[in-house]
Amino acid sequence: MGSWRRALVIGGSVGGLFAAIRLLRDGWDVEVFERSPVELAARGAGIVVQPQVVAALRSLGLGLTRDLGVDVSRRQTLDRSGRVIAQALRPQVATSWNRLFDILRTGFPGGRYHLGRDLVGVEQDGSAVTARFADGGAATGDLLVGADGFRSSVRRTFAPQTRPLYAGYVAWRGLVEEEAFPPDLHRQMFGFFSFGLPPEEQILGYPVAGDGSADQAGRRRYNFVWYRPADELTELPRLLTDETGYRHEMSIPPPLIARAAIAEMRAHAEEVFPPQFCEIIRLTEQPFLQPIYDLESPHMAFGRVALIGDAAFVARPHVGAGTAKAADDAMRLADMLTAEGSIEAALARFEAERLQMGRRMVEQARRLGTYMKRDFVSEAERLRAERHRSPEAVMAETALLDFLGA
Ligand SMILES: Cc1cc2nc3c(=O)[nH]c(=O)nc-3n(C[C@H](O)[C@H](O)[C@H](O)COP(=O)(O)OP(=O)(O)OC[C@H]3O[C@@H](n4cnc5c(N)ncnc54)[C@H](O)[C@@H]3O)c2cc1C
Repeated sequence: MGSWRRALVIGGSVGGLFAAIRLLRDGWDVEVFERSPVELAARGAGIVVQPQVVAALRSLGLGLTRDLGVDVSRRQTLDRSGRVIAQALRPQVATSWNRLFDILRTGFPGGRYHLGRDLVGVEQDGSAVTARFADGGAATGDLLVGADGFRSSVRRTFAPQTRPLYAGYVAWRGLVEEEAFPPDLHRQMFGFFSFGLPPEEQILGYPVAGDGSADQAGRRRYNFVWYRPADELTELPRLLTDETGYRHEMSIPPPLIARAAIAEMRAHAEEVFPPQFCEIIRLTEQPFLQPIYDLESPHMAFGRVALIGDAAFVARPHVGAGTAKAADDAMRLADMLTAEGSIEAALARFEAERLQMGRRMVEQARRLGTYMKRDFVSEAERLRAERHRSPEAVMAETALLDFLGA
């Protein structure tokens, strides 16, 4: 053990908590600083529980006594008339963000988790790193873990040139309470991970754990994600402009989405989707909109500072890898810190391994996203896209991390 023992974790979401819990168990003095002044709460979508998340929870002794979520092993693709045209078996469990977050949050001492601490600056030298916060306060440690998500302030400090790249399409998402499902629809959809595949658009849906960690039948929810092209210069700005005419950057709070945009989305669904998905969209009271971006940081280590999770890489949701990668980044960072004699050496090894993983994940998600592409730069690209367009290919690759060799 060296004299480098105090870790500052910036961001108290899934990635930050995985890192904080593991480092605390490894003997570090850990503090988590979260910008939000109130407890984090779900943005409302489902999460496919990948093996990496289960392994990380298990290694931390968390979540073993309770089921994590809902079984979504049976996959099916429906055609426009609602007929099942393909099926596949892929053992998987889906949960809610709340459920995973609750397990992690209760696994970390409350007194070390600080809400309302917005990081605004980081300084470091050969012996320490200091985090500065918007409230004027500061904290000094030996290691700083930037787990502050997609728009990371830590990343902005060290890699300011890194920008999210718009993928050319958005996802409309929504959640419906299980009890709102009519019996017929429930029978056809609730036990499945289902897909609808009209040209250049894709919808998928599956049940997830309900509120307050409920996974009992009757109290679950159904979650859908619908990918749809939206031109960056015309369509996207329109979708991000709210009822008052205000233009939001990159995302828009669901209650502010313009009524006309929602009405147009609902009308289009009726034109292209199987009746089962149309009904689910009709049952969705508050849809939300997620423009799809790729984000790749050129580095994950800067002296005593490491980036993990969404702060470093964001892949399109097709791979369902966000929480898995955040968990794995956190575990591998801690492994390297245990194995190496200095923080700098540990972080250099961490970066060499995890940059590769992040790039592979983003690349695979991009490949799956070619399904939504209209124009191709070459015939080879068009042919590659075609290979990922069959129901069998989509079902075999979506939300599965086999490509990582995990
Ligand atoms: C409230 C919330 C709900 C989510 N719901 C879903 C969901 O339903 N489905 C899904 O697939 N994914 C969801 N995600 C995203 C998912 O958790 C991540 O993609 C993935 O787990 C990687 O997480 P992360 O911890 O790296 O980043 P994030 O989960 O994005 O967390 C980053 C954290 O850093 C904090 N932060 C940002 N800037 C600062 C700063 N300057 N100072 C201090 N703290 C800062 C943010 O408030 C946030 O809590 C959600 C994330 C959050 C925060």
